[in-house]
Amino acid sequence: MVSKTIDLLKKDLPVEQSSLVLSQDVKTGLVLVDVVNGFCTVGAGNLAPREPDKQISDMVEESVRLAKLFCEKNWPVFAFLDSHHPDIPEPPYPPHCITGTDEARLVPALQWLENEPNATLKCKDCIDGFLGSIEKDGSNLFVDWVKNNQIKAILVVGICTDICVLDFVCSTLSARNRRILTPLEDVIVYSSACATFDLPVHVAKDINGALAHPQDLMHHIGLYIAKGRGARVVSEVSFAVCVESDTDL
Ligand SMILES: [Zn+2]
Repeated sequence: MVSKTIDLLKKDLPVEQSSLVLSQDVKTGLVLVDVVNGFCTVGAGNLAPREPDKQISDMVEESVRLAKLFCEKNWPVFAFLDSHHPDIPEPPYPPHCITGTDEARLVPALQWLENEPNATLKCKDCIDGFLGSIEKDGSNLFVDWVKNNQIKAILVVGICTDICVLDFVCSTLSARNRRILTPLEDVIVYSSACATFDLPVHVAKDINGALAHPQDLMHHIGLYIAKGRGARVVSEVSFAVCVESDTDL
């Protein structure tokens, strides 16, 4: 039933995806959205997967691979961490990623980023990381990161494709169009390194007030909307072979 629906959806709402080859010619930053235990680690909390989830574990694996490669090259990395004050709810979601708990920490395979000088970590207490980057003095940590590093393209990965990833991408595209993010040009969503949670309709109907959220459908719709806002969507990312040219020095 769901697979038939998604086939229809992909036919009527196609998302064309290309391959991305990263090279040092285009200054690119990696943005990790909420690759934290509370959303990614089995059994870690109200919004964590209840059982192993391939879309989510593939997303984590690919995010870790990219983070390592970016840091090896000294390319900038920015990581959002969902993090909430215990007394401030985020409806319609149940309490999750409470500040200071393990839920609000990066997944174990990414915790090395906490001590990585190349990475900027930002705890956010809202869905949209662009808004979550506004500091008390009115500055914006994400905008400063783009400008200070002179970033021309961002590669966005993480969770959830149709929620935190999407809202961040939409706001970033609007900010770019307003020339707030100069020199940023491209906002690229890497589909294989994004994931969303699964709450099928037959499960949601037994949970009071829950909204059904079938994983594959919502992941696809998230990508479709991101593309409609002006993001580029890619399904593969590789790095150009770096040719050292000492003679140029
Ligand atoms: Zn949250």
